[in-house]
Amino acid sequence: MQAARFYGSGTGLEIETVDRPTPGPGEVLVEVEACGICHSDLHILEGDVPISTPRTLGHEAAGSVAEVGAGVDNVTEGESVAVHGAWGCGHCDVCARGDTQLCNVMLWEGIGQDGAYAEYVLVPDERYVLPIGDLDPVQAAPLTDAALTPYRAVSRAREHLSPADTLTIIGIGGLGQYAVQFAAMTGAQVVAVDLDAAKLDLAEDLGADVTIDAATEDVRDRIRAVTDRQGVRVAIDFVANEETLQWCSNTLAAQGQMFVVGLGDGTFDVQFNPLIGSEVTATSCYWGSLPELRDVLGIARRGKLDVGVETVGFSDLNDVLERLDHGDIHRRAVLTP
Ligand code: NAD
Ligand code: ZN
Ligand code: ZN
Repeated sequence: MQAARFYGSGTGLEIETVDRPTPGPGEVLVEVEACGICHSDLHILEGDVPISTPRTLGHEAAGSVAEVGAGVDNVTEGESVAVHGAWGCGHCDVCARGDTQLCNVMLWEGIGQDGAYAEYVLVPDERYVLPIGDLDPVQAAPLTDAALTPYRAVSRAREHLSPADTLTIIGIGGLGQYAVQFAAMTGAQVVAVDLDAAKLDLAEDLGADVTIDAATEDVRDRIRAVTDRQGVRVAIDFVANEETLQWCSNTLAAQGQMFVVGLGDGTFDVQFNPLIGSEVTATSCYWGSLPELRDVLGIARRGKLDVGVETVGFSDLNDVLERLDHGDIHRRAVLTP
């Protein structure tokens, strides 16, 4: 089968012919119909996320069941499925709680084990293979990360939000465009920030109440103005460079929360003196659990999510990663092997 393999930073991905895996007991072989191309792969390609090589990347997959190992009885050959890529060790505390995406053994798809930039992906346990019914796998693939991750962030934020509050989403890329949609579902005022006017137009179409073009506007001033100088209750940062983290930390309302999702390497100061910091919280948010992916797929199957994709083949993969690096992908790019 064809696969796009990573050999180390600076060389891009090599498109190679490798052996098609055979599923062992409990495992499922999925024929990949689509795999979303995530900005996290750029962090891997740039060497910011050390992984062992060679490795087939790709952690955002959907397709159909090609073959099942002994003992697999919840999915059948030919069935359309989405793959939950946060494969955990199954034994540690977070895995026991169901948060396999937080497992520090890092057996995740396309990171700790071979992923889905390939014609087939071997899934280590049938529980990570979720039937999607009549959803198109090409549309379902980005739901497993680009939609799942912001779903978790907005779910964690939701308990602190009232419809009278304001929530900021920074970075309206592959993830941010789902964040805007989930944020709009909370009823709070949604502020979208990006450097690209076309991304901001998209954010407005997807439910943002206010858009801020960071290339031409003062983000902090605009946020203060649209919140009557109260600040925002929740800020979710899908970039996380020095500048965006400062925007978040400097615009929080009393008891405001910031969620860091982007893998940028920025740092920021928060004043935790209770007379000044007003009980603010800063936390990170990573991927999503199996129950959260079930929620996302359910929401999509009811037609409540606007899923935009651009499909590309193996021969375009390195070019598309380059375009993603330059902010030139409008909706999620998806490899269709
Ligand atoms: P993307 O490239 O599709 O989107 C990034 C967006 O941010 C683009 O629209 C770009 O124009 C905008 N942007 C860049 N710099 C900006 C700035 N200074 N101010 C405002 N907007 C800016 O990326 P993506 O696939 O959506 O991923 C976003 C980030 O989230 C990446 O760092 C990725 O590695 C990370 N990520 C984290 C998790 C997690 O679980 N924590 C999961 C997936 C992706
Ligand atoms: Zn990702
Ligand atoms: Zn674990």
